[in-house]
Amino acid sequence: AASAQPGRTYTVATDITFAPFEFQDSSGNFVGIDIDLLNEIARDQGFSVDIQPVGFDAALQAVQANQADAVIAGMSITDARRQVFDFSDPYFQSGVQMAVLDSNETIESYEDLRDQRVAVKNGTEGASFAESIKSEYGFTTVYFADSASMYDEVRTGNSVAIFDDYPVLAYGIAQGNGFKTVTEKEAGADYGFAVNRGRNPELLEMFNAGLANLRASGQYDEIVDRYLGEGA
Ligand code: GLN
Repeated sequence: AASAQPGRTYTVATDITFAPFEFQDSSGNFVGIDIDLLNEIARDQGFSVDIQPVGFDAALQAVQANQADAVIAGMSITDARRQVFDFSDPYFQSGVQMAVLDSNETIESYEDLRDQRVAVKNGTEGASFAESIKSEYGFTTVYFADSASMYDEVRTGNSVAIFDDYPVLAYGIAQGNGFKTVTEKEAGADYGFAVNRGRNPELLEMFNAGLANLRASGQYDEIVDRYLGEGA
């Protein structure tokens, strides 16, 4: 087992805006389920974190290049990623879903995407899913580095739909972002905290130990409820 290094500061890269997992509150503080969980786990285990909101794809690249110690960014635990990252225990169930503008009355299924453009975010499960069905349904994909640009692409009418994680879609829609979902959720992977493969094993151990403590104490549920409400 790796020896714990309490007191050390770890750089943790994350997405820029992926509410309710990471986003800035009205005072500019970085908050969200991922951020609050990480901060409480760090407190519980006695290490410090330096959060780097660089964007999803950039966060994964920073960890692979050893420019950051870890990533927490609503990152799905996939077999492909297990080849290059070591993941913590899963901490949230997720999956991909399509969304269109609330005012859109023509796109109600994947079949309706024929000859249309779909906006996706670099390096995400949503993008992989869109790629996996685009030839079957005859649509094209347009890539963006961050979620805000991806959503704006649909607001301006350049693309008709996005593929994003369903807890993120549900949160944004409840906040009145002007989108709606019209198709079923696709089966998806759980989120995990990740380090570069073989690096920082003690950080992964502390994350898992802290996560277990937060689950046992009820703090995990408190944090999730803070953003998703009771019974979420
Ligand atoms: N869960 C998705 C993935 O891992 C999207 C994460 C994100 O956009 N921050 O690819």
